[in-house]
Amino acid sequence: MMRINLDGIHTNLRFSAAHMVIGHESCGKIHGHSYIVDVEVEGERSGQFGFVIDFKVLKNITRRICKSLDHRVLVPINSPDLKVTFEDDNTIEFTVLDCLEYKLPKQDVVLLPIESTTAESLSTYITEKIVDEIEDKDTLSYIEVQVNEGIGQGASYRKYIEH
Ligand SMILES: [Zn+2]
Repeated sequence: MMRINLDGIHTNLRFSAAHMVIGHESCGKIHGHSYIVDVEVEGERSGQFGFVIDFKVLKNITRRICKSLDHRVLVPINSPDLKVTFEDDNTIEFTVLDCLEYKLPKQDVVLLPIESTTAESLSTYITEKIVDEIEDKDTLSYIEVQVNEGIGQGASYRKYIEH
């Protein structure tokens, strides 16, 4: 087994987004982070070049996911404390904790099928997305993603690939 890493700072795997941690005293207010995403993959070397996985393939997949979150308000649509009250092609309205009302342009938000937008939840979400998008996983043992809220604090999630 061998491991390869992408360091998000140096490989430019980043996105800037706004979020709120529902119910949290200070982080419950909409605020932003410049997120940095680190990726680690463990697997057997294989193929013509003896790669664990082609860096370029992994970077492209991760960059696409970062791009989908960049310059958006991240809305955890599966939160038990969030209720969507109106939605059409242009607008979304939702209430948080039965008292905070939001109305935002659809183009400014990304509705995520997760319960919260903590670094913990985002690392799980991004890991699952990367695993889904890698076509050839036969020789891989796990993918681990660390989502850093700026430099110095982050959460990581490791998903083992079932064979
Ligand atoms: Zn935050």
